[in-house]
Amino acid sequence: MAIKSVRIEEGCIACGSCESICPEVFKVEEVSTVLPGVDFNKYESQIREAADACPAGVIVVE
Ligand code: SF4
Repeated sequence: MAIKSVRIEEGCIACGSCESICPEVFKVEEVSTVLPGVDFNKYESQIREAADACPAGVIVVE
């Protein structure tokens, strides 16, 4: 199913996992952020993998 939004909830521990799985979408500094202007559907499988792998469970994909 197409991705409409990706966001990071509070609680990111800045482990870097999401950025290493999908650097086109996630940028981790103090906490992870979603880069602006990305076509999420180009990276759907990596985004879902990053969300599944996030140890804090704070990546919300809708
Ligand atoms: S994988 Fe989760 S906890 Fe780790 S940097 Fe990304 S959002 Fe934060």
